[in-house]
Amino acid sequence: MNGNDERARSIEFTTAGAEKMRSRLASRSEQEGECIVWTGGRGQNGYGVTGGALTGVRRRLYVHRVAWALANGALTDGVVVRHSCDNRPCINPDHLLIGKTADNNADTLERWEGRWQFGAWKTQRGTGHRSARLDPEKVREIRRRRVEGETLDAIASTYGVSIQAIHDVVHRRSWAHVE
Ligand SMILES: [Zn+2]
Repeated sequence: MNGNDERARSIEFTTAGAEKMRSRLASRSEQEGECIVWTGGRGQNGYGVTGGALTGVRRRLYVHRVAWALANGALTDGVVVRHSCDNRPCINPDHLLIGKTADNNADTLERWEGRWQFGAWKTQRGTGHRSARLDPEKVREIRRRRVEGETLDAIASTYGVSIQAIHDVVHRRSWAHVE
């Protein structure tokens, strides 16, 4: 990450700017369980984004960073904001923690390794779907249906996951621990 990376770039609002951004966040978000999820645009990486002019220059801002700054004060360069809930579009300040870049990487790795143990890592990363869609029971069913000759496409539409996810399950690139 360098200084131009919005994931670790400073955010500081004027009082007027903060008010404007506060009402934007309120109008473009909704409660989803414990999370407050941004309903506006999202970047390819799944984080909520919005445009904002800071110190005269218009930038694409990550809304979870904006939310943290509105709740806690300015963010300085090199500080990353991570989600304790692991829900990237979430802007609930209670779910946002700050750290240095290295911490964030270690944390992310740890979480991904955790998912790998549960066998859903591939599904999660490969398709952007939540891991909750498949479980060991479904995985066994998927493999059985494939053996019986059903197409990947047909199986994928039954479970609401991508063809790639089914492919990975069948070829044990995911859920390898499930017999
Ligand atoms: Zn959350």
